[in-house]
Amino acid sequence: MTVKCEKCGEELLGAVNRCWRCGTKVELSGSASPPPPMADAGEDVVVAELAQPLPRTDARPRPPGTPVFRTRPSNPRHLSAAQGGAIAALVLGLMTTVASFYTALAAIPAALGLALGAWGLFSPRRGPAILGLLLCFLALTIASFTGAVGLYKQAYGHAPWEAPAEPAEPEF
Ligand SMILES: [Zn+2]
Repeated sequence: MTVKCEKCGEELLGAVNRCWRCGTKVELSGSASPPPPMADAGEDVVVAELAQPLPRTDARPRPPGTPVFRTRPSNPRHLSAAQGGAIAALVLGLMTTVASFYTALAAIPAALGLALGAWGLFSPRRGPAILGLLLCFLALTIASFTGAVGLYKQAYGHAPWEAPAEPAEPEF
């Protein structure tokens, strides 16, 4: 015997006195005793009341005895902040990749971008976070190369791929 919820039309099976989807009280024709008034009436969380085992004949199978809650992000503020980390990592990655060709100091914001990107991985915006991580890693690689070349130039007076510079031409 099925009862349809008056509010949302959900088919309710078995001896339920409340719709598991919207929480509306359901009048059962065959119910012997009226359900006691619930304290949480009107609350947002919907709890399926499974006082007795229900026949599992509906189309959507659910594990028996599981309360049904509305799915929503547990902590929206934390998630949006992590999204900002993902975007910041992407921006930092783009900037430091360009800057790392000129100065090894770009490794500092690139390392910051790596941390922000790792933080952003915990947000829904995993794509920008991963891209930012890759760009920051690339920037770190280029910056270390730039730094190594700079050290080489300081030590030898010319870049590794150049012939020894003429003594009359100061590099800096
Ligand atoms: Zn309902």
